[in-house]
Amino acid sequence: MASIQQTPNGPVLVLKESALQEKGRDAQKNNIMAAKMVADIVKSSLGPRGLDKMLVDSLGDVTITNDGATILKEIDAQHPAAKMMIEISKTIDNEVGDGTTSSVIFAGTLLAKAEELLKKDVHSSVIIEGFQAASEKALEILSEISKKVSPDDRETLLQVASTSMESKLISEDSESLSKIVVDSIMNITETNDNKSSVDLDNLKVEKKAGGSIQDTALIKGIVLDKEVVHSGMPKKIQQAKIALLNTAMEVEKTEMSAEIRINDPTQMQMFLEEENRMIKTMVEKVHAIGANVVICQKGIDDMAQHFLSKHGILAVRRVKESDMTKLAKATGARITSNIDDISEKDLGAANLVQQKKVESDKWVFIEGCKNPQSVTLLIRGGSQRVVDEVDRSIHDSLMVVKDVIEKPEIVAGGGAPEAVLASFLKDWSERFEGRQQLAINKFAEALEIIPLTIAENAGMDPIDTMVKLRARQSEGKKWTGINAKEGRVTDMLSQNIVEPVVVKEQIIKSATEAASMILRIDDVIAISGGSGGGMPPGMPPMG
Ligand code: ADP
Ligand code: MG
Repeated sequence: MASIQQTPNGPVLVLKESALQEKGRDAQKNNIMAAKMVADIVKSSLGPRGLDKMLVDSLGDVTITNDGATILKEIDAQHPAAKMMIEISKTIDNEVGDGTTSSVIFAGTLLAKAEELLKKDVHSSVIIEGFQAASEKALEILSEISKKVSPDDRETLLQVASTSMESKLISEDSESLSKIVVDSIMNITETNDNKSSVDLDNLKVEKKAGGSIQDTALIKGIVLDKEVVHSGMPKKIQQAKIALLNTAMEVEKTEMSAEIRINDPTQMQMFLEEENRMIKTMVEKVHAIGANVVICQKGIDDMAQHFLSKHGILAVRRVKESDMTKLAKATGARITSNIDDISEKDLGAANLVQQKKVESDKWVFIEGCKNPQSVTLLIRGGSQRVVDEVDRSIHDSLMVVKDVIEKPEIVAGGGAPEAVLASFLKDWSERFEGRQQLAINKFAEALEIIPLTIAENAGMDPIDTMVKLRARQSEGKKWTGINAKEGRVTDMLSQNIVEPVVVKEQIIKSATEAASMILRIDDVIAISGGSGGGMPPGMPPMG
């Protein structure tokens, strides 16, 4: 389709003949439809009684999950508006770690409500303005009603951790797992000038199928999924002095294929001896400065292994770069790339380095490190699939605990805050006139999708439940929400179902942003280039 613009100088061809274009209401309608479809996919997984999704990829690999971000990541969405919705789930996952499903459902509902207004000929810019005003007001109210807590209040942190697991496959183990999660985060929390922060890079997560979820444990130190390189080496060293090398303990092979001509046996002998001498020098150096543990990012050849074991040094090779960095931080060692330069100062310290069996593997545990802020969470579970889902759930849980430590404000869950905001906003909208009031009201209605969906997924009657919820809310019982496990409307704070306020803030911000962005589009032009041009697949044909 070519697009021709009439100008005083005659027609101007703006788009190439091949470019496809979808204009105005059609573009808007299709985008809204695609966004709503994405929201519909995850809707049934919201809340503790939400169902799980089984994702099957083209190779037949199966993932079973309840995690909105994971579901959406795996969906191969083609429509540009659908992709925008998936983007918000990624943003929210990175920013706050939880609330992905809610944000997508809320954004989809905002668009559905907007569509009702568009049909009544309310212009999209009026809708966007109304949504934005409502969103700002909602954030304001949220910070007024949130409960201020202390960032080192372990009880609250435990509740926040276990609430985020309520909606997961692992909810039965949430009590023990939330303890591990909170302990992990508390170990890596740093407080400066009364402000606490958590750097998740200080936490290493390892997973190993086998055993049960209950075997998941926090190890105060670093775990390497590697074994001690030589059978003659000690498997346990106390008061370890650790050398971290990112150079190979091997004789360097020349880059170009060099040819060494050897004419008589004595030369051969000399050549080998020279090689041995070089390796021996390396090992002697490490030994001389007092190292009894060598952790190497590269290889350690047979001869080096032999010399190291003769000195009673425990060595591990081919360790990941990210683990080397963690080890440096944990043990206070400096990573050395040149063995000639290494000195005693470069060595790190740990109380205990030992090889332990984890299922059929042998792993090296470095515990009692100089810096106690380095910990490893070792996730266990009956099968790889279970371990993977535990990993995803623990990620959310770690993030929400971090959220509360960094901004110690919480709200109750079960749709309570969304219901409070909806009723506040409905009252507040009265100050506005006509169409703007309509838009603010629609925003309020859209917020109610969260309690509504939690109730629906719990098999409760959606209309009855919402009537009850609104009535209690109007009596000022602001933490009234849906207790999905018991199927009743109740005070969620007293049920210890609590969430970080930042998650709710992020849900509102991201969803409003995405909905506004989609509403602002009145023209979809498929430009050539990239994947060959033409309309992106998945776009409906235009008539
Ligand atoms: P999200 O990806 O948005 O976090 P979830 O499936 O984890 O989606 O569901 C989160 C919602 O479930 C939140 O609104 C939370 O308050 C709510 N929730 C958690 N536990 C309960 C519970 N026991 N009863 C009712 N709602 C709950
Ligand atoms: Mg969640």
